[in-house]
Amino acid sequence: MEVIVVDDGSIDSTPDVLRQFEGRIVAVRQKNGGLAAARNGGLRVATGEFVQFLDADDLIAPTKIDRQVALLRSNPAAAVCWSDGFLIDSAGRTTGPANINHPSGDVLHSLLTMWGTQVAAVLVRRSALDAVARNGSWFDSDPMIRGCEDLDLWLRLAARFRFVTLDEKLFYYRVGQASMSSNTVMMLKSGLEVLRRHADHHGDCAECRRAIVAGRLRWRTVAGYGLMQQAREAVKLGRWGEALRRVAAVAMHCPSHLLRTFQPRHLGSKVSTVAQGLWR
Ligand SMILES: [Zn+2]
Repeated sequence: MEVIVVDDGSIDSTPDVLRQFEGRIVAVRQKNGGLAAARNGGLRVATGEFVQFLDADDLIAPTKIDRQVALLRSNPAAAVCWSDGFLIDSAGRTTGPANINHPSGDVLHSLLTMWGTQVAAVLVRRSALDAVARNGSWFDSDPMIRGCEDLDLWLRLAARFRFVTLDEKLFYYRVGQASMSSNTVMMLKSGLEVLRRHADHHGDCAECRRAIVAGRLRWRTVAGYGLMQQAREAVKLGRWGEALRRVAAVAMHCPSHLLRTFQPRHLGSKVSTVAQGLWR
């Protein structure tokens, strides 16, 4: 097995740590370019038949790669094998199952309605990655889809290849403190843009249209829920301006969520009054 570590322009002691593993890993150091550039940098030097991606904070079970390689070898038409996993906290303690319901077979319609999966869940056949690459890159670094680069790639793969599910919990995803909270609107815009880009794989397909409508609603609901949660937290801390900005973002980007879930008791009295005024 070949282990490639991409140092995406770190400014800490990463290079020193990596030197301790010299001869056992391939270290790629590049200037900070974000998620897509880092994954593409690793793929450029990878020579294996299968690829497991793993973000810095996450873990996989020792058996994951063996088990998924075996399943892909026995399913030559499948390009991706994915499995469920666990959530862990910053100390590495398991806090519960990730509970991602991975479909199998032709997954395009299902995947259009999902936010994607954890990248650690997936093992991909390299030849399939190369078949969907564009301009020598696998992950798209377009800022319009920032945060959803993985989903964009899984959808490109799903449009051409079958997926198989190994029904075991084989990865550990670390839930961070600051994850996404300030980026909810960016994630929503990226998610909607990815759906727009993948709307016509089947030409005029009613199922694709239904899936896109469901997917859009899912993105808006999740973003609306996240923003309202952030507004409540801001209220607790007395940050009224921030709370108002979150509620305004819900009104602007996911107004149906505001209509459906807005109840004054959800928020402190000041913000609820302000928000009700804003909605009128
Ligand atoms: Zn379709």
